[in-house]
Amino acid sequence: MNHIQSGNLGYPRIGENREWKKALEAHWAGKLEEAELLEQMKLIRLSHLRTQKEKGIDWIPVNDFTLYDHVLDTAFMFGLIPERFKSGGNGASLSTYFAMARGSKTASACEMTKWFNTNYHYIVPELGEGEPVLTVNRPLEAYREAKREAGIEAKPVIVGPYTFVKLSKGYDAGNVDRILDRLLPLYVQVLQELQAEGVQWLQLDEPSLVATMTEDEMARVERIYSVLHEQAPELNIMLQTYFDSVEFYDRVVSLPVQGVGLDFVHGLEGNLAGLQQHGFPQDKVLGAGVIDGRGIWRADLNRQLDLIERLTAYVPQDRIVVQPSSSLLHVPVTVASEHKLDPVLHDALAFAAEKLNEVKWLQRAVIEGKNAVRQEFEAASLAVSRLNQSPQRSRQQVQDRMAKLDQEPSKRISPFAERSKKQQEKWRLPLLPTTTIGSFPQTAEVRKARQLWRKGEWSPERYREFIREEIGKWIAIQENIGLDVLVHGEFERTDMVEFFGEKLGGFAFTSHGWVQSYGSRCVKPPVIFGDVEFLAPMTTEETVYAQSLTGKPVKGMLTGPLTILNWSFVRDDISRESAAFQIAFALREEVEALEAAGIEMIQVDEPALREGLPLKKDRHARYLEQAVLAFKLATSTIRDTTQIHTHMCYCEFHDIIDSIRALDADVISIETSRSHGELISHFEDHTYDLGIGLGMYDIHSPRVPSVEEMVSMMDRALSVLDPQLFWINPDCGLKTRGLEETVASLENMVKAAKIYREKCAVVAKN
Ligand code: GLN
Ligand code: ZN
Repeated sequence: MNHIQSGNLGYPRIGENREWKKALEAHWAGKLEEAELLEQMKLIRLSHLRTQKEKGIDWIPVNDFTLYDHVLDTAFMFGLIPERFKSGGNGASLSTYFAMARGSKTASACEMTKWFNTNYHYIVPELGEGEPVLTVNRPLEAYREAKREAGIEAKPVIVGPYTFVKLSKGYDAGNVDRILDRLLPLYVQVLQELQAEGVQWLQLDEPSLVATMTEDEMARVERIYSVLHEQAPELNIMLQTYFDSVEFYDRVVSLPVQGVGLDFVHGLEGNLAGLQQHGFPQDKVLGAGVIDGRGIWRADLNRQLDLIERLTAYVPQDRIVVQPSSSLLHVPVTVASEHKLDPVLHDALAFAAEKLNEVKWLQRAVIEGKNAVRQEFEAASLAVSRLNQSPQRSRQQVQDRMAKLDQEPSKRISPFAERSKKQQEKWRLPLLPTTTIGSFPQTAEVRKARQLWRKGEWSPERYREFIREEIGKWIAIQENIGLDVLVHGEFERTDMVEFFGEKLGGFAFTSHGWVQSYGSRCVKPPVIFGDVEFLAPMTTEETVYAQSLTGKPVKGMLTGPLTILNWSFVRDDISRESAAFQIAFALREEVEALEAAGIEMIQVDEPALREGLPLKKDRHARYLEQAVLAFKLATSTIRDTTQIHTHMCYCEFHDIIDSIRALDADVISIETSRSHGELISHFEDHTYDLGIGLGMYDIHSPRVPSVEEMVSMMDRALSVLDPQLFWINPDCGLKTRGLEETVASLENMVKAAKIYREKCAVVAKN
């Protein structure tokens, strides 16, 4: 290297028009042959490589592209195919690959879980007992393809051994070394083949190095990398970390690798501190992640150039690679597709394509001097400052409230013990009240109606009438089933965050801002770009209408502040917690509006609360404290008799149960059916003394649960929880289910509750 380089870590796969998703789904639907699918995928892959080449990126990644997920690719490459997928005799075929991701008639899919603290989900590798074998050298194939088809000397990428094992299932402290003994030789083989091919650099992704880790684990990392270095000494390894600062800075930069990639956006403080304290080895290349790979905002180029200059005090310029802080997989493809955004906002955005321009401009500024890119720098500053100074970012009312945050009520009038007495008197619910989580089936008809209204083919009145009919239908169904607390069904909502974003001030929606969530599923997160403000009641109309049709209580249904925050792209000029508090204040007004309209049970859903947990354990307490505060700011200014519910699902709860308790919600409904009662056993040692409903059945399957299995679930739960505080409900919203199975399941659930109530009555008599 004779001067500073530019690099990339990964490019979005989905394509500008989600052509990747469309091809995959056509294939799964049997409308696109395998050969045709592979051909289309190749074209997409190559076009992404050419885009990066045209931009002049020096280090272009390959093998970041995938047909589903890059972690699954790695498992598949190592032949880690669980036995249950082998029965068809298809071996390492594409259909086996997709079966692992999506399940098949005979085998349930591999688990999927969140990729660190992002909203991307990877397929969890199963280490199992079979011997891993190298089925194909994916990075080598990708390298050859880029060279042959696009004339690019590319940088292959794979998940590094430490992170791969760490993310797998079947790994624990006792067997990890044995697993590595089997896996490392395969890594070595991959590396040696790359080395023989004359590959210059391999990027080994080791994001696990930024999560809290032990001394033993760091020693293991050292052993892994010394083996790789001994066995493939000619291959340059770029050990790539991201999403935060590395835990053992001095030991990580001393590993026998030729380059270390650090995140100077999300791990700025920690990584800079490490650099200042320990310097950087003179014989290594620093991958300097200075452009935010996860946020959607244009960078302040002057500031980032200053940062690079600070880095050059420790690392000579010609041994730095300017790069995004992480793979660009987490941001949409290009701002060029957006035509409807406010120009001030539009101008301040940078998606994947634009971020690579920023990387290039920074590189040019270092090589040729700032003058060479003066225009680009000035345009960036102007765009950022125009957005920062826009009236949407300084709404007086919001700012006033934020300024006296500590004086804002964040505690209910009375403690739960007193509230719950008053609530019992008011509501007179039976023992073990039955309810649901909020949504009812969003049938094709419901989606069609919404489309017609959005396209203007239906008048707002007609759509409103349609929604009312659905609500009416489902109130009657719920009454027939005999549920105790009803819901309106959420037919007017496509998505629980988008719905509120569209009605609150400070949010914007892109037309094509899709990012991959898992497999072919893409999401288009709302953009929080201004101060969040309550404009008008958002949910009262439908809820009050539903309540007018029944004598039973109808729960109002809101999405909580942390879930809105964690599922959106958030402005980066204020802290995330400030943004959460702003949302909380806006929701508080909605809670108050519902109460004033006579809705006195209000559920504030927080399924994504846990997702915001920082990667480092020592920051968990603070995050949880602020999350609890945000929830309480939203839910504390109401009467004692008004009952606050919350709902959480699909995450591990036991380590955050104290925070859940601290939310002080009168009732929480929580998923347990998938984790097969893991949570129940937790309550054996720790009681829960607020209202709680454990999901009685898994709503992700069309299967109708039997009365008996739900009675036995209740038996288990009530052996550790107080029946006076216990609620009966499914484990999540029923939006994705069909009508018949939903009614049948809920009927069984209500029957089970009745049987159990009788049992309790008999016990009480004796
Ligand atoms: N109230 C929402 C629903 O029922 C909750 C969804 C969720 O937990 N993700 O759909
Ligand atoms: Zn849920």
